[in-house]
Amino acid sequence: MAFESLSERLNKALKNITGQGKLTEANMNDMLKEVRMSLLEADVNYNVVKEFIANVKEKALGQEVIDSINPGQMVVKIVHDEIRELLGTEDARLHFKKTGITTVMMVGLQGTGKTTASAKIARYCKDKLQKRVLLVACDVIRPAAIEQLQTLGQSIDVEVFSLGADVGAVETARQAMQYAKERQKDLVIFDTAGRLHIDQDLMNELSEMKQLVEPDELLLTVDAMTGQDIVTVAREFNEQLAITGLVVTKMDGDARGGGLLSVRTITNVPVLFVSNGEKVEDLEAFHPDRMADRILG
Ligand code: GDP
Repeated sequence: MAFESLSERLNKALKNITGQGKLTEANMNDMLKEVRMSLLEADVNYNVVKEFIANVKEKALGQEVIDSINPGQMVVKIVHDEIRELLGTEDARLHFKKTGITTVMMVGLQGTGKTTASAKIARYCKDKLQKRVLLVACDVIRPAAIEQLQTLGQSIDVEVFSLGADVGAVETARQAMQYAKERQKDLVIFDTAGRLHIDQDLMNELSEMKQLVEPDELLLTVDAMTGQDIVTVAREFNEQLAITGLVVTKMDGDARGGGLLSVRTITNVPVLFVSNGEKVEDLEAFHPDRMADRILG
């Protein structure tokens, strides 16, 4: 998909504007119209865009334009900084317990890349942080999810705990915790079941697991390719489970990833990892600056 960059748009909008030494209400409105369009095209949620524009307007109005740049570039900078701030400038990392077993629960809709991300995070923690990791196959709903996790586990040399598809997720989690204690693991990552749409059965199961596991991190996988729906999904997961972080998946696709800005705004939890490919090593730390550039086009 080819998007017109925000700078190009703003320069066009500015062509008819005179007296460009200052950002005035009149030239701002024209430019913000372009910013609004650009963000909506990037799939940022309508309400999020509305609030965002109001914030930018407040920040930008009356600001003197720096000599070296034109008002369009000035607005791009303000918009970019605002997006970066919303995306989070914090140094987001997994929180490990000082002693004992750290637990991570992965949740998200089916197909968002939960199982793949579980293995990627396991690999990262084993290789880079020297953790003794156990992966737990609690997605007993999706056919082949257990096998998929086992295959991934083998490829990264991380043990996978499973009781098969006939034992429920909560019981699997309970026994996995026991097993992890006996084997003195540092980190246990639970791959949970997703659904195509959120339903209460899924939420009840996840809540029950949460109570049992008391996860240090409850991470939601967010597919960068999904559009507006993602807002409802993220809100629901957050309200029912109180997620602690986000993993953005499929960033290697051509989506601008505006959905992430919406999810970040609505949940107010940090993005911990970015998944950008199908291979187990395709996992990156999150860079708010790069993401802001991408959303702006
Ligand atoms: P789950 O149902 O949420 O557990 O999803 P899976 O982990 O099985 O992933 C669904 C599909 O997306 C699989 O074909 C994965 O290979 C693919 N996938 C996962 N993460 C990425 C990613 O970052 N980039 C790309 N291109 N594909 C991915």
